Amino acid sequence: MTNASDAPAAPILPDVLSLPRKAQPVEGRVNLVGLTRAELAEALRAAGTPDKQVRMRVGQIWQWVYHWGVRDFAAMTNLGKDYRDLLARTFVIALPEIVQKQVSADGTRKYLLRIAGGHEVETVYIPEENRGTLCISSQVGCTLTCSFCHTGTQKLVRNLTAGEIVGQVMLARDDLKDWPEPGVPKDETRLVSNVVLMGMGEPLYNFDAVRDAMGIVMDGEGIALGRRRITLSTSGVVPEIARCATEIGCQLAISFHATTDAVRDLLVPINKRWNIETLLNTLRDYPRLSNSERITFEYVMLKGVNDTDDDARRLVKLIRGIPAKINLIPFNEWPGSPYERSDWDRIEGFADIIYKAGYASPIRTPRGEDIMAACGQLKSASERERRVRKVPAGEEGPAAG
Ligand code: SAH
Ligand code: SF4
Repeated sequence: MTNASDAPAAPILPDVLSLPRKAQPVEGRVNLVGLTRAELAEALRAAGTPDKQVRMRVGQIWQWVYHWGVRDFAAMTNLGKDYRDLLARTFVIALPEIVQKQVSADGTRKYLLRIAGGHEVETVYIPEENRGTLCISSQVGCTLTCSFCHTGTQKLVRNLTAGEIVGQVMLARDDLKDWPEPGVPKDETRLVSNVVLMGMGEPLYNFDAVRDAMGIVMDGEGIALGRRRITLSTSGVVPEIARCATEIGCQLAISFHATTDAVRDLLVPINKRWNIETLLNTLRDYPRLSNSERITFEYVMLKGVNDTDDDARRLVKLIRGIPAKINLIPFNEWPGSPYERSDWDRIEGFADIIYKAGYASPIRTPRGEDIMAACGQLKSASERERRVRKVPAGEEGPAAG
């Protein structure tokens, strides 16, 4: 999906050393996707745009790229021909490449993407009756090692760039034909209506790129998703949670998963660094700092590990005073996983206690299981593909299963 193949023989590059690091040239030209407005201004200035015009040009290009989904500078008809040529010689508008797309019987779509360096990540689109949620990745692998999560068995390969993060939203809109058409009001019917940072990786350990990417996704003159339509899920990186409130301002979900430090230490080892009490104290400030509504507490249901009535009662006691909803996630097994999913009547019994204590307690229906697109299954899918396609696993750790 890049324009690399029609690159001119001798591109005229801007003064690349003065560009932000993330805008360094790819295949001879600079990728504009993922630059903040300020960085785009800097890149255009470095390419020779007169100072007086920079602001206007940023606005025009921004709208073409992020509102209309245009990838070809030649189509930017409100720019002069010479300027379009200059842009085309200097820049690209490039997204990660879709290596494979799978569509589940339930309509869930999973995209296997290849990013620079030959690494692979996954993005999942989950259509529902009145909304469509895109689950995006923020890292290849993860530095953390939650014992129930398959991604956690893959060591961190690298952080995604802001362009690779916002690129996931753009390529899903491409695939779903979800970009607006001139003259057709579409806002109410957009297919990608929500974004969740719940794919591979710990978003708060890639803070700057995630912040810049979400800033682009929320920008009112582009993709324009409201900040209430974006949810960032974290395992509990306490020092970054306040920054998430003030610098991103999106909805927050916490991978809580246990009601005692002893059990949470085993399931979510970052708990040894910031325990339940420390985490909860930080969360109490989040709604005020971010001016957001409820925090979502994610709770994976593991048979015989964290699913008793006592756990449910402890959970509601712990989070008392925090505007919250509790999202129960039936455990999705992966080859070699050391846990089993709690029985349905156990999950319902647990949900009932929470509900009676006054909290919404939706049980997350596993989606896209037939294509291994459910929570926590993402690594297994790409590993399996890799085996079939005989692509070496590169720098990644060995597969768990
Ligand atoms: N790293 C972030 C976001 C990615 S994980 C985090 O941990 O919050 C998104 C959610 O899926 C988390 O709540 C995670 O705990 C959950 N999850 C991971 N593996 C799972 C599995 N095998 N079954 C069900 N949920 C899982
Ligand atoms: Fe990383 Fe989240 Fe998986 Fe934990 S649950 S290993 S933080 S991706």
